[in-house]
Amino acid sequence: MSTIIIDGKKISQDIKDELKKEVEELNKKEIYPGLAVVLVGNNPASKVYVSNKKKACEYIGIRSFSYELPEETSEEELLNLIDVLNKDEKVNGILVQLPLPKHINEKKILLAINPKKDVDCFHPYNVGLITIGDLDGFLPCTPAGIIELIKRTNIDIEGKKCVVVGRSNIVGKPVSLLLLSNNGTVEICHSRTKNLSGICKEADILVAAIGKPKFITADMIKEGAVLIDVGINRLENGKLCGDIDFENCKEKAKAITPVPGGVGPMTIAMLMKNCVKAALMQN
Ligand code: NDP
Repeated sequence: MSTIIIDGKKISQDIKDELKKEVEELNKKEIYPGLAVVLVGNNPASKVYVSNKKKACEYIGIRSFSYELPEETSEEELLNLIDVLNKDEKVNGILVQLPLPKHINEKKILLAINPKKDVDCFHPYNVGLITIGDLDGFLPCTPAGIIELIKRTNIDIEGKKCVVVGRSNIVGKPVSLLLLSNNGTVEICHSRTKNLSGICKEADILVAAIGKPKFITADMIKEGAVLIDVGINRLENGKLCGDIDFENCKEKAKAITPVPGGVGPMTIAMLMKNCVKAALMQN
C-alpha cells in the first residue's frame, strides 16, 4: 500500500473554511469574533507570522486589532495595553507574538493575559486544564493541529504506542498530553533519553519536535508507523526541512507529514479555531 502524505495545507484550509461558515452564523446572532495581535519590536520572522495571522483572520471574518509597538516599549506599557485589551469586549482573544525583547519578562506578560482570552493557550490556568484532561477550553495550537492531522487522516490514536521526541512547553509536552487524552500510550523522549532509536522503533505514532534536520532516520522507525514532523529547519541551500528524513522514511511509513506543508499550516488554523471558541465562550 502506498504511503499517505498528510496534506496539512489542505486540512488547514478545510478548517478555515469550516470556521468561515461558523463565523457567518455567529455574525447573524450579532457575535463578531475579534483578535488583538500585539507585536513588539522588529523581529522579521515575527512580522511574517503576525501578518499571516492577520490574513487568516481576514479570510475567516474574524476582526483583527493590530498593535505594533516599538522595540523600546517598556514592560509596564505592555502590561497597560494588556489590561486595556483584557477589558475590551470587542477583543475575544489576545495574542502577544513571541519572542519579546529581552528587557520584557515574557512570563509576566503571559500571566497578565486574561485566561479567557488566552488563544495561544500559554497561560498556566489553561495549561493546567489540559493537564487534568479538560479539553473543553482552548487547545494549544501546534499540538491541537497535530491531533487534527491524525484524526482527519482517519488514523486511530486509541491504544497506539505514541512516542514524542521533544519536551518543550510549546510542542513536546502539550502534544503528549493531548495524545494521552486521546487514549494513546505515550512515551516522551529528550536529549538525555537512552536508547532513543530503540524507543522510536516501537512507535505506532512518532512525533518529532526536536529542531534538528533529518534527525529521525529510516532505521529508527517501525514499518507502518505514522510520522508527524514538527521540525522547521533551514538548510544551507535555503530550503526548509523537518526533523524526519522524509525521503528515506516515507517508503517505510504508513503516513507522514511533509515539511513544509504538514504541521506548519495547522498552527494558524487552530489559533483561529481558538478565537472563534473565545467569542462563543464570552457570549
Ligand atoms: P525546543 O528547542 O524548545 O525543544 C527541542 C526538544 O528536542 C527538547 O526537549 C530537547 O531535549 C529535544 N532534543 C534536542 N536534541 C535532542 C537529541 N539529540 N535527542 C533527543 N531529543 C533532543 O524546540 P520546540 O519544541 O520549540 O520546536 C521543535 C521544532 O519544531 C523546531 O524545529 C521548531 O522550529 C519547530 N516548531 C514548529 C512549529 C510549527 O508550527 N510547525 C511550532 C513550534 C515549533 P531537552 O529538553 O533535553 O533539551
